[in-house]
Amino acid sequence: MPTRRRATSIPFPFAAIVAQDEPKLAVLLAAINPRIGGVLLSGPKGIGKTSIVRGVGDLLPIVLRARCPYGCDPAGSALCDECATGVNARARARRVRSGIVELPASAQIDDVVGTVDVRAALESGKIAFRPGLLAAANRSILYIDEINLLGDVIVDVLLDAAAQGVVRVKRGQQVIEYPSRFALIGTMNPEEGELRPQITDRIGLRVFIGPATVPAERAEIYRRNAAFARDPQAFANEYLARTRALRARVVRAIALLPAVAPEPRAVDFAIDAITKLGIDSHRTEFVALEAACALAAFEGRRSAGADDVRRVLPMAARLRGNRLRVQALTEYHAENATIDAALEAAEHDEPEPSAAVPDEPARGRMIVSPALTERPAARARPQTQREGQPIAVRPLAGGRLDITATILDAGVAARSGVPAEPKESVDAAVPLRLTLFIVDASQSTMKSASAVVAAAHELLRPVYTERERAALISCWGPAAEVVVDEHAGRNVELVSMRLTELDPGETRALTPLPDALERARRIAERFRRANPSAGVEIAIFSDGRANVPLGGEAELTRVLADGGDARMLAATAAEQCRTLAARLAGRATTTFVNLDDLESSPLMRELAGLARGRYFAMSDIVARIG
Ligand SMILES: [Zn+2]
Repeated sequence: MPTRRRATSIPFPFAAIVAQDEPKLAVLLAAINPRIGGVLLSGPKGIGKTSIVRGVGDLLPIVLRARCPYGCDPAGSALCDECATGVNARARARRVRSGIVELPASAQIDDVVGTVDVRAALESGKIAFRPGLLAAANRSILYIDEINLLGDVIVDVLLDAAAQGVVRVKRGQQVIEYPSRFALIGTMNPEEGELRPQITDRIGLRVFIGPATVPAERAEIYRRNAAFARDPQAFANEYLARTRALRARVVRAIALLPAVAPEPRAVDFAIDAITKLGIDSHRTEFVALEAACALAAFEGRRSAGADDVRRVLPMAARLRGNRLRVQALTEYHAENATIDAALEAAEHDEPEPSAAVPDEPARGRMIVSPALTERPAARARPQTQREGQPIAVRPLAGGRLDITATILDAGVAARSGVPAEPKESVDAAVPLRLTLFIVDASQSTMKSASAVVAAAHELLRPVYTERERAALISCWGPAAEVVVDEHAGRNVELVSMRLTELDPGETRALTPLPDALERARRIAERFRRANPSAGVEIAIFSDGRANVPLGGEAELTRVLADGGDARMLAATAAEQCRTLAARLAGRATTTFVNLDDLESSPLMRELAGLARGRYFAMSDIVARIG
């Protein structure tokens, strides 16, 4: 099955996907009942994980969405502030098909939860909020490809939102809250890295997806993929009737779900089986019973029985509990056998096997894909090295500084005359990071102090933690100066404050860029030695008119005394910058911001290339922010 998005937006029809019964059932149930808490599809590349997800997106119902950023249900209770307080949300609603919102692998935390609109903030002096991807995902499926490669901070935020149906963003003293109810579907290739067990544990259904092993199935998969590749539209048309029928079933199931309840016997059965598996978390039976209800609704029934539980419990119980987790990581199907055995045992425990619940173990097995049960043990992934490693812990206490909010407020405060205060941020465990600013205020650059502050904001995301240091190097006069170093207490606040206070004074003609780069490199190396896993980012704001070589005043005097001139000094300084920039490559993430909008000097762009960093003209930054 295709795994890449094709030029056309036509998804591979869900009804045309061969085998993969358990993954297909899992995503259908999640689409019907978001309370299941999402699905994790785990398997190698190129076997159609993405097709299953995009295919189910095509089966979602048409819903009424308010024209607010969150697409609220005007008849629902979970309304955003705009819909709750504004005039008649229903009048401003429109009918659209729920769909899939895909989270790009490159997404940053601000893209996900939303961010402060810097330009609006700088212009008005008020914090304006721009909602993130989780707003768009409200009442849709949120699809995260390669969820195991996403940063822990982002995954935590996503799972919090998935569990609560609400996103809470704290920026400074502002707390913004908006509805975000979505079915999360994550896919991953375990060969590319494991998902933290705590994260796996928070996803409702876990499904392994393997290649088809029956030759006839593989041949059919090939035939359908080839037909789809030749003419996606014709292929989709071929399946149109089946797609429509399936969509109608999903729509009916969503409508029926509120009326579906589990039978008492089904509840007992689920708890009995889960207890036998030694799983402590109550969440497992909650997920299993919600999934059982979704399955009953899908089949047009108003009550979920023990048989429904039997069919969904492997997906809900898999990878729960320490003993099972270790076992599963080494040998997937051994765990399935354990689950099956517990289910068998629980079935025998049933006091009065009712005629309404036929004893039909074969049916229970049908939803397990053959690939899964027949997977040879030798092909299972080897023991992960994660076992025994310390696991990141979310800090409990508050008081984390939000450098973004702090710097932004400093910029706003500078305009409004109100003193900036340090800002707290949400909790998160992320690696230590140093952000180092080099600011060249030698030219006309300080005319746009607020633009530098705005750009700094743009470069300083995501910042959500106390494990954050900043440093500031000023770049004018005969030598650069470390205004705030990485050791200074509360140095993030200091940097934000000093950024707005930079005053080149009398020496604005001199730009000691080589010295600034050299000082930055030394600080970066010192920091990395002390914190080997830390990240270092260096942001250089300059117009690239370097004219003071290394050695400062003494060197200036020497060159001029030897009959050198300004042109020679500039050439030497530029050459030194090139050498130093190349030395930064691979050692730090660099961003070169050319403060000269006309980009009349090519040096900044050249340095970015040598440092393998990013390059922006100031106008790019303003465009990005706007
Ligand atoms: Zn709304």
